[in-house]
Amino acid sequence: MAKHNETMNKLDAKIPAGPLADKWTNYKDHQKLVNPANKRRLDIIVVGTGLAGASAAASLGEMGFNVLNFCIQDSPRRAHSIAAQGGINAAKNYQNDGDSVFRLYYDTIKGGDYRAREANVYRLAEVSNAIIDQCVAQGVPFAREYGGLLDNRSFGGAQVSRTFYARGQTGQQLLLGAYSALSCQVAKGSVKLYTRHEMLDLVIIDGRAHGIITRNLVTGGLERFAAHAVVIATGGYGNAFFLTTNAMASNGSAAWQCYRKGAFFANPCMAQIHPTCIPMHGDYQSKLTLMSESLRNDGRIWVPKKLEDAKRLQRGEIKGHDIPEEDRDYYLERRYPAFGNLVPRDVASRAAKERCDAGYGVNQTGLAVFLDFDDAIKRMGKKVVEEKYGNLFQMYEKITNDNPYETPMMIYPAIHYTMGGLWVDYELQTTIPGLFAIGEANFSDHGANRLGASALMQGLADGYFVLPYTMQNYLADQISIPHFTTDHKEFDEAEKAIKQRIDRLMSCKGNRSVDSLHKELGHIMWEHVGMGRDKAGLEEGIRLLEDLQGRFYKELHIPGEANDLNIELEKALRFEDFIGIGLLMAHDALDREESCGGHFRIEHQTPDGEAMRDDEHFAYVSCWEYMGEDKAPIMHKEELVYEFTERLTRNYKS
Ligand SMILES: Cc1cc2nc3c(=O)[nH]c(=O)nc-3n(C[C@H](O)[C@H](O)[C@H](O)COP(=O)(O)OP(=O)(O)OC[C@H]3O[C@@H](n4cnc5c(N)ncnc54)[C@H](O)[C@@H]3O)c2cc1C
Repeated sequence: MAKHNETMNKLDAKIPAGPLADKWTNYKDHQKLVNPANKRRLDIIVVGTGLAGASAAASLGEMGFNVLNFCIQDSPRRAHSIAAQGGINAAKNYQNDGDSVFRLYYDTIKGGDYRAREANVYRLAEVSNAIIDQCVAQGVPFAREYGGLLDNRSFGGAQVSRTFYARGQTGQQLLLGAYSALSCQVAKGSVKLYTRHEMLDLVIIDGRAHGIITRNLVTGGLERFAAHAVVIATGGYGNAFFLTTNAMASNGSAAWQCYRKGAFFANPCMAQIHPTCIPMHGDYQSKLTLMSESLRNDGRIWVPKKLEDAKRLQRGEIKGHDIPEEDRDYYLERRYPAFGNLVPRDVASRAAKERCDAGYGVNQTGLAVFLDFDDAIKRMGKKVVEEKYGNLFQMYEKITNDNPYETPMMIYPAIHYTMGGLWVDYELQTTIPGLFAIGEANFSDHGANRLGASALMQGLADGYFVLPYTMQNYLADQISIPHFTTDHKEFDEAEKAIKQRIDRLMSCKGNRSVDSLHKELGHIMWEHVGMGRDKAGLEEGIRLLEDLQGRFYKELHIPGEANDLNIELEKALRFEDFIGIGLLMAHDALDREESCGGHFRIEHQTPDGEAMRDDEHFAYVSCWEYMGEDKAPIMHKEELVYEFTERLTRNYKS
C-alpha cells in the first residue's frame, strides 16, 4: 500500500438539529414510517446473530418485515457476545449515587477521549434504560440485591455504580434473551435463519446494497440472497492480532468486503487493549482469556516497590504474599487517586505496561501485574467474594492452576475490542445506501476508547431501539420495489469473483498452515501496531505486513476441497482480509499524530506519560475509502463538532 492521499470531503452524519437531549425524539417524530401492510413486502438481510444482530433481526421481524438472518456458528447462541462477562451499563440511578442520562453520556464521551459524535453518544445513554426494561421483561436473570431489586456494580471510567450484571455471564444471559425473541419470530415465519452461512461479498445494484453471497460452511456451496437492505452485525476485527480475548471465529471479513465495495472504514487504528487478561503462557497458545473488569471493583492491582523483589518473583523464588504491604506499589491508586483501580482500560493498560517495561513485572516473563483480593476477602469474607466473582475465579484456576483466593491473580493487557469499524451516520447507515452497520461492526459510539460494559449497551441499543426506527426512514422509499431476485448480473459477477478468490487460495502450494501465518501477523501487529506506537515502528510494521501479504500466497497450504466442509479454507479467507485490515490500521495509526484513548503514539505524551491529544489537528473521524487492489486508499475526514461538551484533558487523578 502506497502513501495515502487526503481529502476534506464532507461526510453527512445526518445529525438532527436542536438541543442534544431532544435530537432523538425530534428524529423519531419526523422520520418516515412504513405502514404495516408495506412492511410485509420488504426483505431485510441481517448478517450476524450476536447481541446486535439477534436484537435487530428479532425487532425487525416483530415489526413485520421479512428478515433473513445469517451466522457462521451452528446456533445464534454461539455468537461471540455469549462470552461477555462483566455487565451492561444503564443510567437508571438505582443506587441513588448521582447517575443520570447526561452523566452516562458525559462519562462515555470523555472515556472515548472526545473522539465520538455527541449526538450518537447521547442517544445511547438515553435508550440505555429501556434496554434493561426490555431484558428484564424477557426474563434475563440480572443479579438482585437482598431486597429483590436489580443490583449494580462499578466499571472503569465512572464514579457511579451503573452496571447491571448476571454474575460473570452477562453476555450469555442477554444473548439467551435476544435469542428467545429471535426464536419467537423464526417460529412465526418473519425471520428465516441461516446458520453456518458465511457472507463473503456484498452485492450492490444501482448503487444500493441489495444482497449478499454466502458460503455454506457445511457443503462449501456458494449461495445468493437478495433483499431491499442489508445490515452488517458481524462484530469486531480484533483478531487481526491473533492472540486476543475474542472468540476464535470473530473476524472482520464482512466489514472488510463492504469496505472493498465502497463503504468507508472509520478509525481503523482504534483498538482497545484490556488491562486484565490472563498473561500469555506459551508459543502454542491460540487464545487469551479475559478476567472481567468487574474484578477491579474489589481487586487491587499492584507490583513490588523494589526491583529486587520483582526479580525474585520472576525467578520463582518468592510468591506475591511474601512481599509485605509496605513494599507493594498499588500504582493505579498512587497515580490516579480519584478513580484508583477503576480508571478506564486504556489508562490501566498503559500503566501496567509502564511498570513491566521498567522491570517490575511479577511472572517469569516479567509481563504481568498482580490483581489481589486479599483485602476484599478480609472485608467481605470469602463467601461474598465467591458469590460475586465465583465463576471467574474458577476459570482463572482452571487455566493457571493457581487458586486466586489464596495467591493474587496475575494479569496483563491484551487486545479485546475494536472501536473502529464501518462508518455510519446517525441512522447507522454506511456510505452505501441500504447498507447499515450495528454493534461492534460499526465505529459509532466509543470514540478512541470504549468504557467497560458499554459494548453490550451499544449492540442492544442499535438492535432493539435505534435501527428499527432509522431503517424505516430508508425503506419508506423502497416500498414500490418488488421483492428482489438473485438473477441480476451483479450477483453473477460477485459469485464469479469469490470463486476465483477461493481457487487462488486452494491452488497455493506452500507448506504453512493458516494459523502459522496468522501468528506471524499477530506478532507484527502487537509489536508495531500495539499498545505503544511510533512513526518508525509503524513504518517497519507496514513493511513487514506488505512482505507477509506478498509471501502469503506462496507459503499457504490448505488441505481438503473447496466444495466441502473446510475449516482451513474458512480461516484462509478471513486471514487474507485480516492482512488488509492490519495494513489499514497501521496506516491510520501512522496518520494520527496524536495520542487518544487506545491509540497511544509514543511521540505524543505528557512528561508523566499520559496521552496527549491534539484537538486542533485531529478532532475528526478518519474515514478510509477503498480505491482498488494496488491503489492507496483515500482518507476523508468527518469533523467532530462539539456543541454541547467542552473537550478537556481527561483527568482521572482528582
Ligand atoms: C471475553 C469478553 C468479555 C466481554 N465482556 C463484556 C462486558 O461485560 N460488557 C460489555 O459491554 N462488553 C463486553 N465485551 C464486548 C462485547 O462482548 C462485544 O463487543 C459484543 O458482544 C459484540 O456484539 P456484536 O453483536 O456486535 O458481535 P458478535 O457477538 O461478535 O457477533 C457477530 C455475529 O456475526 C456473525 N458473523 C461474523 N462474520 C460473519 C460473516 N462473514 N457471515 C455471516 N455471519 C458472520 C457471527 O456468526 C455472529 O453471529 C466482551 C468481549 C469479550 C471478548
